[in-house]
Amino acid sequence: MHGIRWILTSAWLLIIASLFYDPWTPRFTEADHPWSPLRLPDTCVPVQGVCLSEAPYPLGTTLFWGAVVPAAVLILLLFGHELWRRVCPLSFLSQIPRALGRQRQRTKVNPRTGDRRQQLAKVPDDSWLARHYSHLQFGWLFVGLCGRILFFNADRLVLAGWMLFTIAAAISVGWLYGGKAWCQYFCPMAPVQSVYSTPAGLLGSKAHLSEKPITQSMCRTVLPDGSEQSACVACQQPCIDIDAERMYWTRLSSREFSFERYAYVGLVVGYFLYYYLYAGSWDYYFSGAWLRQSDQLSLLLRPGLFLFGQSLNVPRLVAVPLVLGFFTWLGVRVGRWIERSGRFGRHQIFVLATFLVFNFFFLFSGRPLLLLLPAWVQTLFDAVVVAVSSLWLYRSWERSADLHQRENLASRFRRQLEKLDLDVGRYLDGRQLADLSPHEVYVLAKVLPGFTREKRQQVYKEVVREALQEGYANASSSLEVLSQMRREIGITDEEHSLLLESVGVENPDLLDPDGRRSLEDQIRLSGYKKSLERLMLLKSRQADPEVIRNLRSQYSISPDEEASVLEGLAPSTGALQKLEAMLPRFSELRRARLSLLQRVLEDQPLVRDLLADSLLQRQDLSLRAILSVLAELKEQPEALKLAARLQALRPVNLPVVLAEGDWEQHLSPSVLALLQQEPQGAADEPPAYSLADTLSSLEDLLQERTPLLRAAALFLLAQLDLNRARFLASGLDPAAAPVPLAEMISALQTPTAPVPELQDLPELEMRAHLAASDFFRGTSHASLEQLAAVSELRRFGAGELITETGDTCRELLLLIAGRAAVRYQQAVGVRLEPLLPGQVLDELEVLSHSASENTILAQEEGTRLLAVPVDGFDAVLERDPDFARRVLQLESRHLQSLMQSLHS
Ligand code: SF4
Repeated sequence: MHGIRWILTSAWLLIIASLFYDPWTPRFTEADHPWSPLRLPDTCVPVQGVCLSEAPYPLGTTLFWGAVVPAAVLILLLFGHELWRRVCPLSFLSQIPRALGRQRQRTKVNPRTGDRRQQLAKVPDDSWLARHYSHLQFGWLFVGLCGRILFFNADRLVLAGWMLFTIAAAISVGWLYGGKAWCQYFCPMAPVQSVYSTPAGLLGSKAHLSEKPITQSMCRTVLPDGSEQSACVACQQPCIDIDAERMYWTRLSSREFSFERYAYVGLVVGYFLYYYLYAGSWDYYFSGAWLRQSDQLSLLLRPGLFLFGQSLNVPRLVAVPLVLGFFTWLGVRVGRWIERSGRFGRHQIFVLATFLVFNFFFLFSGRPLLLLLPAWVQTLFDAVVVAVSSLWLYRSWERSADLHQRENLASRFRRQLEKLDLDVGRYLDGRQLADLSPHEVYVLAKVLPGFTREKRQQVYKEVVREALQEGYANASSSLEVLSQMRREIGITDEEHSLLLESVGVENPDLLDPDGRRSLEDQIRLSGYKKSLERLMLLKSRQADPEVIRNLRSQYSISPDEEASVLEGLAPSTGALQKLEAMLPRFSELRRARLSLLQRVLEDQPLVRDLLADSLLQRQDLSLRAILSVLAELKEQPEALKLAARLQALRPVNLPVVLAEGDWEQHLSPSVLALLQQEPQGAADEPPAYSLADTLSSLEDLLQERTPLLRAAALFLLAQLDLNRARFLASGLDPAAAPVPLAEMISALQTPTAPVPELQDLPELEMRAHLAASDFFRGTSHASLEQLAAVSELRRFGAGELITETGDTCRELLLLIAGRAAVRYQQAVGVRLEPLLPGQVLDELEVLSHSASENTILAQEEGTRLLAVPVDGFDAVLERDPDFARRVLQLESRHLQSLMQSLHS
């Protein structure tokens, strides 16, 4: 590619040189040339009613305007901006200062330490230029097109001067600002590139699906071994050179972006129409006479319009900007009017606009040369233009931001899946993972036998981490952004919160709401890290400080960024720091849970366990994260010390977590042995915590995202300190809160009401009983909500019939209070089998949708049941694969014990 760029740049410079001196090509345009198709025609070309007198001319301008410019537009639609930007001579020349290592630097002062460091100057995010660059580029394009008609369509010296001025401007911008600032902020071709090659060129690459770290026309350097390395300094966000489609969807809703497209359509129409309005016929344009009318400057003050056989006394100098300006304005008005009519979305209007302007452009552009070729070539060219643009329209029409996002996430998911080294080949029937659609990837993940819940969480967590690092989502938007993926792979909202928290424990910066992260910054940092690694490798880890300083300034590396990169270079240091942050967090979770398991809450076991189980689940995740980081430390002595600190915290779930994973393959034997030991002085009883500790933990739980946990925390707070609970509830709006929380808030906002009883809060009570029963224990809060929303509480008197033999089982019945019994009719008489609170009645019949085989009776007054309709239950089974798996396990155990009892 480097070679091609040199060739094209040399060809361009040759054209410029020919504009100054070209004694050779005019002979091909002489009227009596025996074979040249470019010889001057002997027909009259009328301009404002008078035949134009023409003389032989050099071909520089004809080639440039007649072939180079149309070819650029064709390349854009066909191959996308990426090919054009990689071969564009101006872009190449703008990088000269970078290649020479001569770019403007700015001094940055660290506000904390007062340290000063040199950094590559970039266009500041909050500058006028950063906010208005698209108008600036369009303005320059407008001036350029007016300039063509007025000054340099055919005046070779002015054209050469314009080109040299542009080259000088590009090189100066390359010195003034880092990155591809010329292309991003100044180049008048940028709006043209955006119009024809976004959302994507017909044959353009898909950066969001790419496995390669260097995508599209991203800035890069070629290393001595021939490989490429990113040289991105994050000069613009979002950057079209990294992922054009991502830039398109990000900017789609902005006013500047729509202005660019609609104004361009108007400008192109106005530009070509002007030739007719000037000359009074199309002959002037299609004969190409305007390419050889080298006395352009002398026409500036001559009449610029010829309408209805009359020239209007408006000088060309005024008429040209007037006509082009009017059509530009009209383009924007029409575009906005179509938008307001609401018949199409903005994306559809954009692609239609591009389709139309592309075809319109090729009705004119290059046509003066094309008309000199045989008719079949012209027909072929037209057919190619229509076919290419129709195909482009078809492909682009169906794209959407949502589809791009789904493909993007599925691609990340696929990459993480590949890292797990699972045997996926036999499910793919000869295809590759990369060939699968997003939906197919998720379906595959669901059926892969080795893709356990832990692995699913691990993969999802890495996707969350990447999304946060690249600024694709932040802590609060990630729930929404990743919702579809969660649905597809069966990760619940609570799991998301827990995994997000665990990502935050490992990289606290990622959850910082004020932190601005982007894909561009991520690429910049990884480019710096790779350069540093290379440098250290070359110099046997003793790189010259001056060279490192240069590298730092080239990539605009701040002290904090440097620290994080150095941490990445020495992973064990990073792992130690992570563990130092993770262990206290684990300890806090443990303390919060134990502070709930105190005597003061003994009379509310249901609600207390609901909260304690949730905290235990979190500890579980935190513990897995700690073990993963311990595994990174391998045999290092610090690993043993940290493992001992973890062991001292007596993680109640450690044996289970160790038994579930393949930790013996990852942890060093000494660390594993230490963790498997019984902690010294382990106590059966939870340590005693004060009432203040319990209250403080409950108040912390009020900050939870899940309404059920907040309602439960408020309920327990009310049991311990009614006034405090009332005070906290007074700041909440029941109308804006989800069901169980709204019910709790309303109960506390009634000033004279006593301490609420669980029975007075049916919504909370149903959820607490569901969560505590064997059948539903461990079910996600989202599924509990779904079940509780369709369930109801029922009360029975002593001896009352609950179900009768032969009844169709339409409900799953959970005994929550009192006593009930199953009545078996046997040969020897009736046998009564007692049922206890927490048990589910007739679940096998409900699951098989069959009729009840027994009669169930309430045994005492006030027996209470929770009825879950079978349809609601089936809906949860379908939605929540974990729940389905658990039910299956539970029922197979139940069946086994039933079979055993029958055989015994
Ligand atoms: S953001 Fe990076 S890749 Fe894009 S133009 Fe700027 S330096 Fe190059």
